[in-house]
Amino acid sequence: MNSKLEQKMKDAILDSTTYSGVKFSKSKTLSASGLNDDILPLVLKYRHGLGSQKVIEQNTLGTLLHSGLENAFNGHKDYGVEKSFKMPIGDTGWSLTGHVDLIDFDSNAIIDHKMLKTKKINEIMMMSQPKKKLEDWDDYQWQLGVYKLLAETKYGKTFESYISAFNKETSYFKKDADEVSFRLIPIVTPTNEEVMAKAISQVNEIKKYIDDNNDNEPSQCSNLFFSLKYGKPARPMRCRKFCDNSNHCTYYQKFAYHRKKASASDLLSKLGI
Ligand code: SF4
Repeated sequence: MNSKLEQKMKDAILDSTTYSGVKFSKSKTLSASGLNDDILPLVLKYRHGLGSQKVIEQNTLGTLLHSGLENAFNGHKDYGVEKSFKMPIGDTGWSLTGHVDLIDFDSNAIIDHKMLKTKKINEIMMMSQPKKKLEDWDDYQWQLGVYKLLAETKYGKTFESYISAFNKETSYFKKDADEVSFRLIPIVTPTNEEVMAKAISQVNEIKKYIDDNNDNEPSQCSNLFFSLKYGKPARPMRCRKFCDNSNHCTYYQKFAYHRKKASASDLLSKLGI
């Protein structure tokens, strides 16, 4: 294996797919994807910022897909590609930000590209109905709700929201050939007022932990709880794979430390679960 060449290629790919959002600490911005997040990762992001990605992962593939789609739609008269928006969150001193993949100004449509598995695409297809309770809206619906609020405020007109779903599991050679490979799925979102109210409440909650040198952390993320695998506790998927600040999270560090040696029952008692 030519490891020098491999590393050179990895570096080039990581350079071209670096996170385009705000990475530095102390930024008073709430992004569309953070609107429905737990408070703890948002506080950690404010305190520590985001580091550079060192390895090629699933999200790298998603970013590469976005680059290709940018080329596909750039220059077409109907489309606005990779549009960034920012607006104040009430009088909190913070801003709401969003980076919209594609706007079709002819159809007044906001489109977010996602590379997903069949199961998730099937779930998203159910998102064309409004939810009865605020807590039932999915992360994607809040995210698209932010885009809608930002774009409607900027352009003074109404937009419909869509996810353009690319299925990463389909293949010509698969027996199960009736899976969807690409679909534009309409997404119903919370109202603009509900989105703004949620943003204000998130910021007020974050402020409790970042003002006055308060070093406390909000209670652990609701999905830290783990499952047992081969008799040993499996690390929580979200902390391990999707949290950019797990190395700063005391809950996760405590968990990781005890997991090294403890049996499942020891660990449960040490963590007080
Ligand atoms: S490491 Fe886990 S518990 Fe800690 S902030 Fe991240 S997701 Fe939440």
